Amino acid sequence: MKTRTKPKTIGLIGAGMVGSSFAYALMQRGIVGELVVLDANHARAVGEVMDLNHGISFASAMTIRAGDYADLRDADVVVITAGTNQKPGETRLDLLQRNTVIMQDVMGKLLAVNTHAIVVIAANPVDIMTEVAVRYAPTLPHGQIFGSGTILDTARFRYLLGQHYAVSANSVHAYIIGEHGDSEVAVWSRANIAGVGLDEFVGPNGQAYDQAALHRIYEQTRDAAYEIIERKGSTYYAIGLGLLHIVEAIVREQNKIMTVCAPMDGHYGITDMCVSVPMVVGMDGVEKILDIHLADDELAALHHSADTLKLALTDVRL
Ligand code: NAD
Repeated sequence: MKTRTKPKTIGLIGAGMVGSSFAYALMQRGIVGELVVLDANHARAVGEVMDLNHGISFASAMTIRAGDYADLRDADVVVITAGTNQKPGETRLDLLQRNTVIMQDVMGKLLAVNTHAIVVIAANPVDIMTEVAVRYAPTLPHGQIFGSGTILDTARFRYLLGQHYAVSANSVHAYIIGEHGDSEVAVWSRANIAGVGLDEFVGPNGQAYDQAALHRIYEQTRDAAYEIIERKGSTYYAIGLGLLHIVEAIVREQNKIMTVCAPMDGHYGITDMCVSVPMVVGMDGVEKILDIHLADDELAALHHSADTLKLALTDVRL
């Protein structure tokens, strides 16, 4: 006998550039039945939904509608991209405080109607926002709330390494861990192409190991957001696709390994902060945090990254 599974419903809180880029990517994939879009600026949500729905006949059949928190009651996954960006003259800490207030507001309203959804956070600073959200919902199972972490940094790193060695980014296995930001860490000791370490691999273009070039790739990865923001104001397409990748891993129960961020519970000797390391993402959110062996300097850099995030959080009124 045929068994039918109910099509999944996705909630999206925040219909700005990142949220709408995610929605645009999602509607083309045909993996869910419904997307409910919510924004503090309701007109914005309605406008985005109209625009997306006008493309439905070119994409996959699904329902896209603007809604309120009550409409998120049956959502299986909720993606949070609500946040604000830095204003001129504002410190990173001021921004952190403002986004913390937004995150607590959003979590309070969401949990009042739905405590079963997997919650994926993308609002920045994503590691700290995820920690704020997790502390707001201490009774939910660990892994149900997690952040997009350094998936974008890892994707940028793989793209740049692929360009350097003239191979597809999909054939590069390399991770950026730690903070989604200035103290992020490249795991060189584990990076490989086709199982061959970067110090041995020779690309089809004859490109062999070049330590200085690889260090520049790390710097380009770390500073990519600044470079893009300077030119076009903000970044959204790649993270939109990254969020799709996460949501697909959940709804299709894929157990994909990605550098998302979640409570560390002593992994790598880190507690009390969400930090990005390779984790298995599947139907229950983060299914497992992987303890991969890091070189001593990489572990020290990961601890520095975690300490940087913890220090920032100490100044925030929770
Ligand atoms: P945006 O300003 O275009 O959109 C933000 C949206 O959030 C706005 O539509 C706003 O009305 C809404 N909003 C604000 N407060 C809200 C609330 N309390 N409830 C519901 N909606 C609310 O910004 P964006 O470019 O879409 O960026 C969104 C967030 O994603 C930012 O924090 C940004 O820094 C972050 N971001 C993260 C990554 C990543 O890799 N994790 C990458 C790019 C951007």
